[in-house]
Amino acid sequence: MTNFNTAMNELQSGEIAVLGVPFDRNSSFRRGPALAPVHIREALFSESTNMWTEKGIDLRTMSGWKALDDLALSDLDSKMAFATIESAVSELLKRKARVVALGGDHSITYPIMRAYGRKYSELSILQLDAHPDLYNELHHNRYSHACQFARIMEENLVQRLVQVGVRSITGHQREQAKRFNVEIIEMIEKTRIDELTFTGPVYVSLDMDCLDPAFAPGVSHHEPGGMSTRDVVEIIQNLKGNLVGADIVELNPELDPLKITGMVAGKLLKEILGRMLEEKSTHSGFIF
Ligand code: MN
Ligand code: MN
Repeated sequence: MTNFNTAMNELQSGEIAVLGVPFDRNSSFRRGPALAPVHIREALFSESTNMWTEKGIDLRTMSGWKALDDLALSDLDSKMAFATIESAVSELLKRKARVVALGGDHSITYPIMRAYGRKYSELSILQLDAHPDLYNELHHNRYSHACQFARIMEENLVQRLVQVGVRSITGHQREQAKRFNVEIIEMIEKTRIDELTFTGPVYVSLDMDCLDPAFAPGVSHHEPGGMSTRDVVEIIQNLKGNLVGADIVELNPELDPLKITGMVAGKLLKEILGRMLEEKSTHSGFIF
């Protein structure tokens, strides 16, 4: 791992920066995801397995990506932390990096999208989540990890938001989805995932609770009836669109004593990196 500033100076155009964003102050129920970046990296590099993706890329020897150090956010309030995240991601994008952020609670997607929205005018988000995170506010917090997609849509930071895996949606959030033209593929109609196509740049926001708690118990909000690890791997591998960034959020290491969920996150990170590196080799020249 490399210090943020040093690593930034060494980044090559088109490289992927894996950035730790240890921030969980906007969690509504229990804290813990701030501990996740180190937990996910441990799983990625774990000697219990290897670093080959299913499609045959060895991340250990493959250049084109770097794991950066975590942002220093522990002493910052939410406002300052968001400013720090936004400016770090902006800097990375200015250097033509693609960012894969390791959260953190899901609220971090908002400052990340503020940076991405400036760079990509026609960005789509594919959000994998049990929840739509579209509340106008929750517990008097407009920046809660249940509100970030309302903020993102209000500020027109992206052109299209597609949510997959949703199985816990309130009436208010249905109204919000309608208001912001959010496309939702709920678990009850999961087969529609096969029809999903994106044109232009896509950012994947992967809330670990999109998975069924049987596959990923180490999250703060258990919502039974979710996706399998295989479902999510296939969504990443088969994604039609130009993948320009991603985040993996909401893993709670305090609820992951056996590190099972950490290994799932590590696996999904591996497949995301593989998918992005594949993209670079097949489409280089028109991504940036
Ligand atoms: Mn969720
Ligand atoms: Mn979420």
